[in-house]
Amino acid sequence: MSDGGILRKVDKVIRKKRFENIDVKVEDSVVYLNGKVSSWDDFVEIGSLIGAIKNIRGVVNRLEYPGEIRRERKKGNREKSGEADVVIIGGGVTGCSIARELSKYKVKVILVEKEDDVACGATKANNAMVHSGIGEKVGTLKQKLCVKGHFMYGELAKELNVPFKRCGMLIILTKDSLSKLKIPQFLANFIAKRIIPFIVVRRGKKIGIPIKLVDREELMEKERYVTERALAAVSSPSYGVICPYFFTIALAENATDNGVEFMLDTEVVDVTVENDGVKSVVTTKGTIDTRFVINAAGLYADEVAEMAGAREYTIHPKKGATLLFDKELGNYINRSMSLLRFPRAEHYKGGGIMVTVDSNIQWGPTIAECPEKEDTSVTAEDIEKIFESYTPLLPDFPKKSVITYFAGIRASTFTEDFFIEASKKVKGFIHVAGIQSPGLAAAPAVADMVVDILKNEGLTLKQRESFNPYRDKTTIFRDLDIKEKKRLIEKNPRYGKIMCRCEQVTEGEIVDAIHSKLPALSVDAIKRRTRAGMGRCQGGFCLPHVVEILSRETGIPIEKIQKNGKGSNLFVGKAKCLLGDKHDGN
Ligand SMILES: Cc1cc2nc3c(=O)[nH]c(=O)nc-3n(C[C@H](O)[C@H](O)[C@H](O)COP(=O)(O)OP(=O)(O)OC[C@H]3O[C@@H](n4cnc5c(N)ncnc54)[C@H](O)[C@@H]3O)c2cc1C
Repeated sequence: MSDGGILRKVDKVIRKKRFENIDVKVEDSVVYLNGKVSSWDDFVEIGSLIGAIKNIRGVVNRLEYPGEIRRERKKGNREKSGEADVVIIGGGVTGCSIARELSKYKVKVILVEKEDDVACGATKANNAMVHSGIGEKVGTLKQKLCVKGHFMYGELAKELNVPFKRCGMLIILTKDSLSKLKIPQFLANFIAKRIIPFIVVRRGKKIGIPIKLVDREELMEKERYVTERALAAVSSPSYGVICPYFFTIALAENATDNGVEFMLDTEVVDVTVENDGVKSVVTTKGTIDTRFVINAAGLYADEVAEMAGAREYTIHPKKGATLLFDKELGNYINRSMSLLRFPRAEHYKGGGIMVTVDSNIQWGPTIAECPEKEDTSVTAEDIEKIFESYTPLLPDFPKKSVITYFAGIRASTFTEDFFIEASKKVKGFIHVAGIQSPGLAAAPAVADMVVDILKNEGLTLKQRESFNPYRDKTTIFRDLDIKEKKRLIEKNPRYGKIMCRCEQVTEGEIVDAIHSKLPALSVDAIKRRTRAGMGRCQGGFCLPHVVEILSRETGIPIEKIQKNGKGSNLFVGKAKCLLGDKHDGN
């Protein structure tokens, strides 16, 4: 459709909804909105309605609304600090997958991440599902990359030495699946049992994934705690599960081994452009000259694109909360499961009850538009909603065994698909934006696609003969047999000291993490590498020990140790300091 045709359609939407004071421009099938609306809800509604128009590439929604939070851009350091063929912005699973893929070639790559570790954005707060693609709209980029990516995980996990399980997924239909449609129960049962499962299977075959019908009897045999109201299910056996941060750290470590430079705790604040092409990336720690920039900045991808004058989308954050249960329930289910309900919410797979590689079961996630990109709070309503949504699947599940909850934010564009392409405005600027779910599953395929784009854009990529795909296995003490444990302790007695009782993490593993290729320099960075603090007591026992070890190994004074990066100090000083002059300082 021509830009004129798109403009006419957009005008129609705006008139129909009676929005006023909105200025619309269309360029290269991207819609730019300027003006004012009366609320965040209106901002989202209009963006979504326009984003749903066919053939639109992007919606740049610059509409102002009351209460809008505008972030001040940090000051950069304009002094040259280095140069690279490619600068990747963002150290999530997307950026790290691209970094690792590019490390196969003879190019200088620098990855810049604003946090003090990789995997600190959506990558650390998702459901760890390596989706098969069955839940995605057929024909979307995210669906295609998900299918391709999820097949790549087996090999990748072996090379990187990270736990990965093809746990499978059961999509379950019950007597309540169509209850909202207000049709007679016998008809609802018939459709749920005899029609929908066949449609799902056909869809799976169409996108090229293994898929199978499961009748009620087989379902009850496979999963004995599933609701009695179940009628049928579809099994998607290639569904997998991986620890998303452990995987991302492994990608980053392997990329480091193969020559990629990681600049952590470094924020990109500007991208300079000369003769319509990328010239350099300005960070808080200096300026890097480069010809190619990969924008994998997650929630901030729109702001980073704006820095380069290459914005073609707006990110509207969507929050998702999840509950995590104690490992003692690890065998309650054998595979992940979701409940198929109609009508289906748009752009939401519906969540479910999922297994993890570490045996904790998860319930969630919810979905809600969220004006603040950093708002990862979880409310009592979120928790109630999760129980309400998934209890119908496993009615007798011992819910009291919940050990924690968390929320992550999806970086959605208004077209609700991945936006991966070379900028039409600035040569050398590559968008890898809108990476909402299934961004984890798709990451290896996204990396492949980005490498192809770089080649098309003129980057010469010659294979690096010395590329080593393998990452050494890190010691996971709890997984060793008794003989190996003994041998290890004889070699290094620190492996004989359990610091985290819930997860059986030793002092030796914590020290390893601190001195690893991508050193863990905060409490949470150690947690992501070792699981210290992830058990039932959530760090109640091991936190002081971890802090002491971190301080001892790095020389960082205890009161300066951070939980998860700048400004997250755990201690304000020695207890008696708070008494003022009357104390002796001890
Ligand atoms: C609740 C929830 C559940 C999900 N479940 C699944 C699932 O089960 N399976 C699945 O496949 N997907 C899932 N997803 C989606 C998946 O988590 C994301 O698609 C994926 O993590 C995106 O990775 P990313 O690297 O693109 O973004 P991020 O992980 O957010 O990384 C972006 C990085 O860029 C950095 N950055 C931003 N701005 C700058 C700057 N100016 N300078 C330097 N660095 C910057 C950030 O600090 C961040 O680390 C889920 C998402 C959510 C929120």
